[in-house]
Amino acid sequence: MVKNRRKRNQHEERVMTHKAHRIKLCWGIESGECPNLIFSEPELQQDLESVIEESGWPELLAGSLPGKIKPLDQFSVSVSGCPNGCSRPQIADVGLLQAKKPAVAGDLCTGCGECLQACREGAIDLQAGLARIDPERCLACGHCLQACPEGALWPDSQGYRLQVGGKLGRHPRLADELPGIQARWRMLEILERCLRLHIDNYRPGLRFGRVVAEQGAGQVQQYSSLEDENGRLKYSHG
Ligand code: SF4
Ligand code: SF4
Ligand code: SF4
Repeated sequence: MVKNRRKRNQHEERVMTHKAHRIKLCWGIESGECPNLIFSEPELQQDLESVIEESGWPELLAGSLPGKIKPLDQFSVSVSGCPNGCSRPQIADVGLLQAKKPAVAGDLCTGCGECLQACREGAIDLQAGLARIDPERCLACGHCLQACPEGALWPDSQGYRLQVGGKLGRHPRLADELPGIQARWRMLEILERCLRLHIDNYRPGLRFGRVVAEQGAGQVQQYSSLEDENGRLKYSHG
């Protein structure tokens, strides 16, 4: 009995933490060894932590809870290095998926069809002997870019897809995806907007997914200006 209680206390001690956030990077980003990794991103974790720590969220959370911060109280950020989403960005408060979106240079395309074979999404077909990409199907994994022998595919945009408001718990919900692919500085800006929205609506026990469900994902992008007093964006790393 006493042994069980001690064990339970040890377990609770382990899962309790004073951090107001948790950041999960997929194995590919951490190791740099996954063949699916779209691009390496030095100091990403530090930049994400800076945004969270400077947002006021840690102070708000610490001042709102009677006891220690538990994992469910933390603001979660999950980053994946490709659309496979191994770090489960779909159930994080903010999920980030690296993305590289191709475009076709018509004058270089020979219609060889190599890119069709490389695309697992069936997002490429040939029209009048030229490759054509269906933006609705393309997941921006970048595989076709490596497959083209003519250099006829080029990265039209590279950065992050953002998913907001995912969670598990009693009422699970998959995150909503925001439109577009964002450069690193812009992704950090949107993360800060998410935190501001959460802070302004926070009450103990509230998960960000509930805020997104109540207010709509569109609100996240429009929420508050991030220019400093000189009109510059606060985060401009990329
Ligand atoms: S999400 Fe992609 S890059 Fe990251 S570990 Fe999984 S397959 Fe590799
Ligand atoms: S980026 Fe990926 S999903 Fe998009 S067309 Fe190329 S291979 Fe297909
Ligand atoms: S692999 Fe390159 S050259 Fe061949 S069809 Fe695709 S885009 Fe055109």
